[in-house]
Amino acid sequence: MSTTPTQTVLTARDLTRHYSVSRGLFQPSAEVRALNGVSFELEAGKTLAVVGESGCGKSTLARALTLIEEPSSGSLKIAGQEVAGASKAQRKSLRRDVQMIFQNPYASLNPRQKIGDQLAEPLLINTQLSRSERREKVQAMMQQVGLRPEHYQRYPHMFSGGQRQRIALARAMILQPKVLVADEPTSALDVSIQAQVLNLFMDLQEEFNTGYVFISHNLSVVRHVADDVLVMYLGRPAEMGPSELIYQRPLHPYTKALLSATPAIHADPNKPKIKIVGELPNPLNPPSGCAFHKRCPHATELCEQTLPELRLIDSRQVACHHVEVINS
Ligand code: SF4
Repeated sequence: MSTTPTQTVLTARDLTRHYSVSRGLFQPSAEVRALNGVSFELEAGKTLAVVGESGCGKSTLARALTLIEEPSSGSLKIAGQEVAGASKAQRKSLRRDVQMIFQNPYASLNPRQKIGDQLAEPLLINTQLSRSERREKVQAMMQQVGLRPEHYQRYPHMFSGGQRQRIALARAMILQPKVLVADEPTSALDVSIQAQVLNLFMDLQEEFNTGYVFISHNLSVVRHVADDVLVMYLGRPAEMGPSELIYQRPLHPYTKALLSATPAIHADPNKPKIKIVGELPNPLNPPSGCAFHKRCPHATELCEQTLPELRLIDSRQVACHHVEVINS
């Protein structure tokens, strides 16, 4: 029996993004380390879910992956092509290969342009298709995402939130990108609509074999779509590995707490909930050592002083000094 060879569509190595921010007149500027040492590989047709509280670096990662922002250091390859040092023409083609969906689709649609024309725009810019071929392709894609032919002539305000996210998805997928980065794509939708839109994501992935990076703060949303999960805390990976393993037996104290706080997953009322105390630290003044130590019930002096490196434990990577003891 022959198996389809896997194709890596996205490779991140030690991706880092630091910002310099002003602290006011006559004050030296400060550095925000929004993203530190993120490495992963994404295969075609697979989904990596990136989860964590707001401020954990998820959206910074999304902007780096979609070439909206340059990483400060590290390497990013899209379908084997290194982004740093790519020529203008190569960048244009890389941008076409990586598309993005935002939380609020209305903000990314032009209110004064008909939906059909908005969907045809990427084809006009990136392909040699004739007007009638573009129209045909747009109508086929509209049908695929559950929109009717008469919607072609309508404007964004004439659609519901769920329909607008379908339009955004159609526009992102019309060029059949290798990678789709979705930043909280369902969090603005009603729960009843969320499942339909998630199913549509999955159908299109199967059809086009696209690799997805699915960013969410909601672990129950990503559970059914993710092959791998990357849990981030204050710009750094805390735990990363196969979704099944992480949901069944999280090892990092932060992942445990996140899962425990998700009602749809933490269904057992007899199991004590793990509460994370305090707020996410200020990224302008991050704690020393393990950034989670001020909120972690297992923190020791070592945690306060030394940054834990990611280590391979039980088929996933975990950044915690005491992970073996905590899970023994
Ligand atoms: Fe908690 Fe220490 Fe592990 Fe950080 S390194 S998660 S503070 S036990």
